[in-house]
Amino acid sequence: MTKSRRAVFLDRDGTLNVDRGYLIDPMDMQLLPSVGEAVQLLQAAGFVCVVVTNQSAVGRGMMTEAHLGRVHEEMNRQLAAIGVTLGGIYACTTPPSTTGNEHPDRKPGPGLLLRATAELQLDLAESWMVGDKLSDVLAGQNAGCRGCILVRTGDPIDETQFARARPFHVSDDLLAAAQHILAHPI
Ligand SMILES: [Mg+2]
Repeated sequence: MTKSRRAVFLDRDGTLNVDRGYLIDPMDMQLLPSVGEAVQLLQAAGFVCVVVTNQSAVGRGMMTEAHLGRVHEEMNRQLAAIGVTLGGIYACTTPPSTTGNEHPDRKPGPGLLLRATAELQLDLAESWMVGDKLSDVLAGQNAGCRGCILVRTGDPIDETQFARARPFHVSDDLLAAAQHILAHPI
């Protein structure tokens, strides 16, 4: 039996790349500074980096799955150019519910993280979630991650909502988040 691996689950928009709202055109994919260094550090320490992203533009009919695939091809191309490869990309394309019954894959639901954990043989209890929204932190906590980090590279952070989550760490960007993770081994 394969030994399960540690992961860092990464939000996409506002965490890995500049958040432009609905990102439809692959040419609008622009990685944030220090992302390459951050992912290199994590991979060198044995973490699998897996993107978990809400992409409701597909479910809203603003883009197709094929379009989304092209955006992710461009992201992978830019990451490869700086020497890093993702362990996987998991996207929830379902829009927010109008009835209050959110799809379990849609963050803050843990569905994407749980599927990645099963498919990639990850150890959730040794894994982290990093994102720019409270819904990212909550998804990590709902999945049972070891720790969750909010980064300040996306939406302005609304600290009045922090009480909705159990305690988590805040970092300026993904590199600072990676350094925090490496400074806190099991
Ligand atoms: Mg985000």
